Amino acid sequence: MESILEIKNLKVTFHTHAGPVHAVRGVNLKVGKGEALAIVGESGSGKSVTAQAILRLIPSPPGQMEEGEILFAGRDLARVSEWEMFRIRGSEIGMVFQDPMTSLNPTMTVGKQIMEGLMWHQQLTREDARQKAVEMLRLVGIPTPEKRVNQFPHEFSGGMRQRAMIAIALSCNPKVLIADEPTTALDVTIQAQILELMKELQEKTETAIILITHDLGVVAEMAQQVAVMYGGKVVESGRVEEIFHHSRHPYTWGLMASMPRLDWKREEELTPIPGSPPDLFDPPLGCPFADRCPHAMHICHDEMPEVYSVSEDHQVACWLEHPQATPVSQTPQVQI
Ligand code: SF4
Ligand code: MG
Repeated sequence: MESILEIKNLKVTFHTHAGPVHAVRGVNLKVGKGEALAIVGESGSGKSVTAQAILRLIPSPPGQMEEGEILFAGRDLARVSEWEMFRIRGSEIGMVFQDPMTSLNPTMTVGKQIMEGLMWHQQLTREDARQKAVEMLRLVGIPTPEKRVNQFPHEFSGGMRQRAMIAIALSCNPKVLIADEPTTALDVTIQAQILELMKELQEKTETAIILITHDLGVVAEMAQQVAVMYGGKVVESGRVEEIFHHSRHPYTWGLMASMPRLDWKREEELTPIPGSPPDLFDPPLGCPFADRCPHAMHICHDEMPEVYSVSEDHQVACWLEHPQATPVSQTPQVQI
C-alpha cells in the first residue's frame, strides 16, 4: 500500500493544573493513497487528538506534541513552519468536524466561505471562485445551489450545513480529508445520506479520508482500513474485513460484542465492556486494557505489549500473541 500520510510515534500531552494528561502515547498510523482509514475508539481514547495533531490544531498551551513525525507528501508536518501549515490546512488537507454550526462562520454567506479558500489557495478570480462554489454545492447535493450560495449558515438545515462543510473541505481538491465524527450530531436518515455522499465523493475524487468515529457501523460502511484506539494507543489495526472477521485483540472483541447486529432484537442486552478506561494522568505501565481484560495475565499489568504482525497489514498490541501465551479461542464474528 502506497501511503499518502504516515504518523510515527506520535505523543501528545496536555499540561493541566491537575498534572500532565498523556492523551496520545506513541501512535503509529498509515493512510493509503485514496483509501479511507477509520480511527475507532471510545471518548478519551485519543482519536480526536491524533486528528488535531495532524493539522497542528492542538490548543497549546495546554496541549503539546512531545514527539513524533507526521509525514505527508515528502514533509514532516510536525516540523514545517506555521505559515506552511496554514497553507496546507484547507488546501492539501481538508477537514470536517462534528458540529458544522461551530465551524462555519455565521456572519458570512456559505458561498463566500467556499470562495475564500479558492481565492486564497488557488488564486481564482472572484467570478471563477463563485462559479466553483455553486458547482461544489451542487456536487454535495444541495438543491438550487445558485440561490443557496448567497444564504447564511442559519438558513441551512443541519444536514445541509454538513454538506456545505464537505463542499468547503473538498473545494481545493485536498489529498486527505479528515472527518471527526462528521455525522454524530445528525439524525439517522441524514447521517446515512452524508456518509453515502462522502463515500461517493471519495471514490470520485480519490481523496484519502481519515474518519474518526466511535461507531463500528460507520467503519464497516466507509473504510478500508481501521485502527482501534484505547488509552492513547493503537491496540489493533488492519483491513476492515480482517478486523471485523478475525480480530485478535480482546478490546476489539468487546467493541464488536457491544455493536448492535442487523438481527439485533430490542429485548437482547448489548454487551458493554465492564469497567472504565485508564487514567491518563497516570497511565498504566503495562497494557492499557489490563484492568478490564478478561484474559489479562501477570505480564499484562507490568509490561506494555509488543506490537505483533498477524499479517502484512494486521497489527495487534497484545501479549496473547506472544508465542508462549495460551491461545484464547473466543473470537466473535461480525457480519458486514
Ligand atoms: Fe488483555 Fe493482556 Fe492482551 Fe492487554 S495484553 S489485551 S491485558 S491479554
Ligand atoms: Mg472526539
